[in-house]
Amino acid sequence: MAEKRRFKKRYCKYCERKTDFMDYKDISSLKFSLSERYKIMPRRLTGNCKRHQDMIAKTIKQARAAALIPYTVSRKAVVLTPFEEIK
Ligand SMILES: [Zn+2]
Repeated sequence: MAEKRRFKKRYCKYCERKTDFMDYKDISSLKFSLSERYKIMPRRLTGNCKRHQDMIAKTIKQARAAALIPYTVSRKAVVLTPFEEIK
């Protein structure tokens, strides 16, 4: 539950960057909306707007289908920084 504190600021990071298109291959731009277990973060925590949250959800699902992001992470394999090895 301590994680909730990390998302104090409420603004859409994607609006700030004026993102109109998300590439499923560009994982670094998706990491803001993935938890350490590669789950899609809910909008109430990330502060994303509805439009971008929908885009993210769609893009993450594409990335999962392309095996760029795992669907599930086993309990033992949980890492604090999931994108350490990607980049
Ligand atoms: Zn937005």
